[in-house]
Amino acid sequence: MSLLFTPVIGLEIHVQLATASKIFCSCSTDYIGAVPNTNVCPLCLGLPGTLPVLNAKAVEYGVRASLALNCTVRNATRFHRKNYFYPDLPKAYQISQYDLPLAEHGFINITSEDGTLRPIGITRLHLEEDAGKLVHGTSDGRLTGASQSFVDYNRGGVPLAEIVSEPDLRTPAEARQYVSVIRQLVRYLGVSDGDMEKGSLRVDANISVKCSDGRWGERAEIKNMNSLKALERALEYEIKRHIKMLSEGKIIIQETRHWNDSQGITISSRSKEEAHDYRYFPEPDLPPLVLPDGYVKEQLDKLPELPWDRKRRFKDTYGLSEQDSATLTENRDMADFYENCLISGGSPERTANWLRTEVLRVLNENKMELKDFPISSHIIAEMIVMMDNRKLSNTAAKEVFEHMIENSSDLHSAMSLCDISAGGIAGDQLRDLVSKILEQNNDVVRVIRSGEDLNGKKQKYLKGLVMRETRGQADPSEVSWILASLLENN
Ligand code: ADP
Ligand code: MG
Ligand code: ZN
Repeated sequence: MSLLFTPVIGLEIHVQLATASKIFCSCSTDYIGAVPNTNVCPLCLGLPGTLPVLNAKAVEYGVRASLALNCTVRNATRFHRKNYFYPDLPKAYQISQYDLPLAEHGFINITSEDGTLRPIGITRLHLEEDAGKLVHGTSDGRLTGASQSFVDYNRGGVPLAEIVSEPDLRTPAEARQYVSVIRQLVRYLGVSDGDMEKGSLRVDANISVKCSDGRWGERAEIKNMNSLKALERALEYEIKRHIKMLSEGKIIIQETRHWNDSQGITISSRSKEEAHDYRYFPEPDLPPLVLPDGYVKEQLDKLPELPWDRKRRFKDTYGLSEQDSATLTENRDMADFYENCLISGGSPERTANWLRTEVLRVLNENKMELKDFPISSHIIAEMIVMMDNRKLSNTAAKEVFEHMIENSSDLHSAMSLCDISAGGIAGDQLRDLVSKILEQNNDVVRVIRSGEDLNGKKQKYLKGLVMRETRGQADPSEVSWILASLLENN
């Protein structure tokens, strides 16, 4: 009988909250690229005699994320000291939460392969402070050679929300999706930039494997994955390793392992026996955190429309496909931009197409963010309405669009510089133009009229010439129709 193996995965996600100042002092949280140890003060350096003061914005962001994760927010909570010795932690304890986390018992949906929603339990969300950073290098500033270690406390005291999931995830792909949903959510809420590469969203993955014969291996906690891809690869590697050990009848021990991305393996860094005893005890320097009456309700009312609700509304209200609704609600700026493009009453579908193909292409090609996009939503709205009313062809619109991107000009000067008129080319004007082309291509016309253009290639060629002459400003079916009638008419 062959054995079946089921992976069990639970994730701990640390999200850096996007407050301007640190969680217990007024130092700036803007540490990326800052000169080491410049965003520091006696408090976040852990000097004696300093007292922490809780940042209200960090609480607000934490509550906002908790509510969006369907958690119950505790009205009265407190902080604990988590003690451990490491050079990046100047006080030798981290202020965190322990028995009374800010929020508990939530869930978030992911989509299974068959398209159904699957809720993943959120055990808790709590607030804590970040630690500093060790930098390995040499004293003359070179970061290679790593003969010495330096410590930069700029990150110490930056607010974090730790979001702990239930062990509900079953595959690396599900774990990846769960993280991307959380990331999208914190970005929508504006509580974090959620950037895994920069380290503002960090994932520790707990993984164990159950065997159909009843054995269930101890879990490993994997750290150091800097991207969604790395998370998925690390879990795949770890699942294989567990299955191999169980198949060989080996005992799996509980341990912490480090993902090495370049080698594609995990390496044991600490076993349970070596695990820290954190000696948690209540933080005596901070009073209990008691949220004012009505606070949670107020935060709930202030939540923006969440990405999945917005996606469903885009499908239902604008008739967009699943894929277009997902693309356009992927981030809040794009969803807002889309809806702003609709204010002039243009076709939602055409607008969606245009954003997906043209706007996103330009953004990707230039690695640009929407906020830096040179064309405003109301100009796109105006173009879409002209296209809807057949006053501007798709080809002409693209030409004008390119012109506006390159020269940051406004719509009307771009149109006149591209020699494109808002009426397009139609009716008598188009008929005259077709006649002119026919005159210039007498020999081709003769062949067609003598019935020798059997596969219609020559007629297509003439149509191409006309379209080129109009630079796409004519309606192709009108061109075909005029062409056919003039060719018959001899
Ligand atoms: P710790 O405090 O040691 O990190 P927790 O009980 O808080 O342990 O669990 C941390 C994470 O481990 C949670 O995300 C949880 O879902 C996950 N987890 C717990 N048990 C298992 C298991 N048997 N297999 C995989 N993950 C697990
Ligand atoms: Mg843990
Ligand atoms: Zn400080």
